[in-house]
Amino acid sequence: MKLGLILGDQLTPDLASLRVLDPQQDRIVMAEVRDEASYVKHHKQKIALLFSAMRHFAEELREAGWQVDYHAYDANSEFKSLIDVVEHHVQTTGAERLVLTQCGEYRLQHAMDRKWAKQLGIPVDVYGDDRFIATTSEFADWADGRKQLRMEYFYREMRRKTGYLMVDGEPEGGKWNYDADNRKKWDGKTPFPNPPVFERDEIDQDVIALVAEEFADHPGSLDAFHWGTTRSQANAALGFFIQYCLTNFGDFQDAMVRGERALFHSLLSPYLNCGLLTAKQVCDAAHQTWQDKRAPLNAVEGFIRQIIGWREYVRGIYWLHMPHYAKENALNNKRALPRYYWDGDTRMACMSDCFKNTFDHAYAHHIQRLMVTGNFALLTGITPEEICDWYLAVYADAYDWVELPNTLGMVMHADGGYLGSKPYAASGNYIHKMSDYCSGCHYSVKTQTEEDSCPFNSLYWHFIHRHRNDFKNNHRMGMVYRTFDRMNDEKKERIIARADTLLNRLDDL
Ligand SMILES: Cc1cc2nc3c(=O)[nH]c(=O)nc-3n(C[C@H](O)[C@H](O)[C@H](O)COP(=O)(O)OP(=O)(O)OC[C@H]3O[C@@H](n4cnc5c(N)ncnc54)[C@H](O)[C@@H]3O)c2cc1C
Ligand code: SF4
Repeated sequence: MKLGLILGDQLTPDLASLRVLDPQQDRIVMAEVRDEASYVKHHKQKIALLFSAMRHFAEELREAGWQVDYHAYDANSEFKSLIDVVEHHVQTTGAERLVLTQCGEYRLQHAMDRKWAKQLGIPVDVYGDDRFIATTSEFADWADGRKQLRMEYFYREMRRKTGYLMVDGEPEGGKWNYDADNRKKWDGKTPFPNPPVFERDEIDQDVIALVAEEFADHPGSLDAFHWGTTRSQANAALGFFIQYCLTNFGDFQDAMVRGERALFHSLLSPYLNCGLLTAKQVCDAAHQTWQDKRAPLNAVEGFIRQIIGWREYVRGIYWLHMPHYAKENALNNKRALPRYYWDGDTRMACMSDCFKNTFDHAYAHHIQRLMVTGNFALLTGITPEEICDWYLAVYADAYDWVELPNTLGMVMHADGGYLGSKPYAASGNYIHKMSDYCSGCHYSVKTQTEEDSCPFNSLYWHFIHRHRNDFKNNHRMGMVYRTFDRMNDEKKERIIARADTLLNRLDDL
């Protein structure tokens, strides 16, 4: 008899490990354990979503004929970690082998590889996670021997592999990438669809009560817990996106609007990352919409690129470069994370809105993460470890394999440039161009050196100035340095002095 361990982000019925197990003979174990729920202070909604989705998945498996031993969270349990639970079940069931699908996180996979078989006294069979479009070895082969890795070229391989938006071996419409069409500010007219709100069943209610009680000191609120926790709810969320959001997804992909949680974004990442939806299912649905002529090419291409391009690419980078990747700090940052990343209380209107979205919903859309909270951390030189822990904690979709390359690589440029050929650094001007935040802000986006000048403005030039050596050979930064060098010395000095003042009282902004 074999014991199959299913992890919280493996809630998929045709998981590789389930395919080799036999419901008549083998048993499944699933567990909510303290170590996994609290190795960083996860947002309350993230824990509630996962515990509830796990409990629903256990029910789904039982209905399909599996014998499932489910270990519900108990703060006083003698089992604190996954290995504690598995060891107990191996002893009580007499299992001869442990079977599982490769973990998403290096930390857990490494521990399993190193000591689980020895500690359990039985073989541990790990099957590759084939819910992704590319395997980790396929990515490694693609990367092998290339001087520079760029998402765009990997993405083209994935287009060829999947056949999405391909006609006779050529990209639909003659171009691979329609990103240049996807940078519009919201027009102030196109109405935002209201994301679905799901009814809560008894499992949800039990879990929400448990999280409120046991994780009271974790960030975020449970008041607006709207995430789906079952496969059918995740499917409904996908259907909603395809029907009401996809058409405008491309045009307003980079826009930000005060008080608007998602605009036309899909809100699907938590379901994709825990296995309630698969990448193929989601891309098939978007592709069908294009084939039925119900959404424009820039929207469908943009959406599919995020999944078979970015999502797969960051996973490839993660497994290619872990464990040393997590320690990289190419810009030698040393500053601590400002207070408001945890309490949300700041006079910067853009940051405040992003924090509100984050704490109320365990969500912020990509441009809020990249160009507001991320950009600020980049400009101010926050240590990668602190900002990575923050992103890992506060979002419902956050798992190490996807959060780390996005934060450490894309936002902080701490890996030296696998995720972007130049840092995504921007002044307040970018935020002003893409949002309505600045009109309601304590600070003025128009000035750089006054007492009420937008902090992003002087901090941007401070960043450029202090990292001249890091970027002097980056030809994509040449224009920025030429602009800086053309400023007169007195102006430069005033900007740098203003930024120094801000850096010295960062917690007060
Ligand atoms: C600092 C930072 C941290 C991030 N951390 C995470 C994380 O922990 N987990 C996570 O899933 N995404 C992360 N992202 C990527 C992206 O912001 C989210 O995937 C997206 O905001 C999720 O919302 P959505 O489902 O509405 O996405 P949409 O905008 O609707 O995009 C569709 C899908 O594309 C995928 N996707 C889009 N961009 C990326 C990307 N850069 N990397 C990987 N997948 C992408 C997601 O699966 C997403 O659901 C991070 C981005 C940044 C800048
Ligand atoms: S003025 Fe600056 S701080 Fe205020 S909202 Fe605009 S970009 Fe943000």
